[in-house]
Amino acid sequence: MPLQRFRPTSGRCKLCRGEVELHLASHDSPPVECPKCGQDIEPCPTLAAPQMKINRKPSVSNAKAAGFKVLKRLDGGEYETQ
Ligand SMILES: [Zn+2]
Repeated sequence: MPLQRFRPTSGRCKLCRGEVELHLASHDSPPVECPKCGQDIEPCPTLAAPQMKINRKPSVSNAKAAGFKVLKRLDGGEYETQ
């Protein structure tokens, strides 16, 4: 019996923490509400990419704000502090 993940369509749930796993029999129609909280639910995309927040590419100003020295490569293989 496949285990299918569902999530509340609201995206938030304190009871099921935004995700509930349900066993689905092939002849069953998909559940439409969370058995824990009663919210409307929808199947989670099975091949969804991990929900990682991709950091923006660091910019020079961000790096400086974070306390990093920003080096600029000069001709000849030397670096200069910007
Ligand atoms: Zn829930």
